[in-house]
Amino acid sequence: MDNLNKLMKGWFSEVCALWPGVALSLEIEQLLYSKKSKFQQIDLYQTKSHGKMLALDGIIQLTEFDEFAYQEMLAHVPLFAHPDPRNILVIGGGDGGILREINRHGCVEHIDFCEIDEDVILVSKEFLPGLACGFDDPRVHVYIGDGNEFVKTKTAAYDVVIVDSSDPIGPGEILFQKAFYEGLKKTLKPNGIIATQGESFFLHKACVANLAGITRDLFPVQAYALVMVPTYPGGHIGLCMGSLGPDPATPARRITPAMQDQLQYYTPDIHQAAFVLPHFAAKLVKAG
Ligand code: SAM
Repeated sequence: MDNLNKLMKGWFSEVCALWPGVALSLEIEQLLYSKKSKFQQIDLYQTKSHGKMLALDGIIQLTEFDEFAYQEMLAHVPLFAHPDPRNILVIGGGDGGILREINRHGCVEHIDFCEIDEDVILVSKEFLPGLACGFDDPRVHVYIGDGNEFVKTKTAAYDVVIVDSSDPIGPGEILFQKAFYEGLKKTLKPNGIIATQGESFFLHKACVANLAGITRDLFPVQAYALVMVPTYPGGHIGLCMGSLGPDPATPARRITPAMQDQLQYYTPDIHQAAFVLPHFAAKLVKAG
């Protein structure tokens, strides 16, 4: 949707009705790819300062500058909170970055991956090899389709489910609804954990309160964590989590020194600290 995606004097501005009156701008060197897929407008830019940037319907999905923060936290927080994660489901995440992080866990045996838009995967394989390398692992099994439909086909199948969705407009909208979360819960094995992209408690208060309310209604343990990501709206994003047993805020396994050396954001201390929220955000999550 080019009307959402304004390139003025070589600058991309992320104008969107979900955060009215404010927009992050990045200077662009080159538009490397632009195509309307069956589901959304896909644009891949070379930025001047932040490496390559993927935008869907004019909304920034990632930049090479800071993508590690989001991918590491959305993957490693639920995976380290689980004592023995073997079977994993990822919904969305067509760039492959979440898979790249999950693949670092030797205990994981099988990863189902369901993305609605195959073109996002193809673009990422062509232009973002540092993320799309996540698809190279033989444990990854790719399904192209709607995540909401996919979860209806699975019962008690996964230890951890990760939803790396775009925002709640367009194809991602269904992934923010209670019926989808009910489906997610059904896919979990005993002690299973879900972690979903939880938007911004500064900019999307109603959305955060809604997700918190849904997870509290459905799961015995509910939690919400904060991740700093400079190019997401407001400079941060939340992880919304529900658990059938383990505490999402406490690592249940030790990270090896070799794995820690590969990471840039996640540490066991950051894992726990991420659940300490500003007072207004904690109230929002409790009241939702
Ligand atoms: N967390 C990133 C963000 O918020 O900017 C999202 C990155 S990832 C590229 C989001 C992916 O979710 C996209 O590739 C999109 O096609 C996929 N997606 C959106 N709706 C979906 C659905 N209903 N089922 C499966 N995948 C979906």
